[in-house]
Amino acid sequence: MKELKILYLYPDILELYGDFGNIQVLRYRLEKRGFKAIIEPYSIGNPPPNFKDYDLVFAGGGADQEQGILAEDLIQYKQSIKEAVNDGVFFLLICGAYQLFGKYYKGVEGNIIPGLEVFDYYTEAIDDRKKRCIGNIVIETELNGKKTKVIGFENHGGQTFNISSPFGSVLMGNGNKFGDNHEGFFLPNVIATYLHGPLLAKNPELTDYIIKYCLDRKYNEDIILEPLDDAFENKCREQLLLLYNC
Ligand code: GLN
Repeated sequence: MKELKILYLYPDILELYGDFGNIQVLRYRLEKRGFKAIIEPYSIGNPPPNFKDYDLVFAGGGADQEQGILAEDLIQYKQSIKEAVNDGVFFLLICGAYQLFGKYYKGVEGNIIPGLEVFDYYTEAIDDRKKRCIGNIVIETELNGKKTKVIGFENHGGQTFNISSPFGSVLMGNGNKFGDNHEGFFLPNVIATYLHGPLLAKNPELTDYIIKYCLDRKYNEDIILEPLDDAFENKCREQLLLLYNC
């Protein structure tokens, strides 16, 4: 039985707005197709993970305080994370985690949280707790050449700059900063985004894109994923896109 090994970073700390749901959706869409999902958590105090042993690394969102708590622990893995990214391991990073993979995150109190410097972007929160990018968001991205709308929810004070390759263009919502035309950061094996939701629960095509990338890379095959019955998910998406006029 083919399987995917998923490393779930800081599930006890980076758990804002139900981002754990992304792990549940990955597991569901793998197991429904007869693949095995091996999900291993890592948090402060656990033995160091070997990032290259995993097919996918996931980390969710967190408030400034939580980001400050784990940053010191995370930074010790800077080199092995960089090697895993260069090796093609898939990284799915939501909001607070997205920010910590850049150069730094300057919190709402003006405190600088050092990032992993895996990517060149950086994030600075506006020094006014009331000024946050909050609300539903729809972006358009391209997955394997196919334009795809991605639906989510954003809630971040951080404004992210110096993005070389965005995840998508904003159809509704803010994106990387207030009124930005672009959202997130995108490489063939990296999706870093502000979209909570949980992201994958609202976007089955995106989930399958990630699953296919990981399986193809691991087994060196062009694996065709058996379609699942997404009638409910698609009905929900239709209603949301109608509501958002996107
Ligand atoms: N604390 C960060 C910010 O406010 C990230 C928030 C989040 O993960 N939703 O921008």
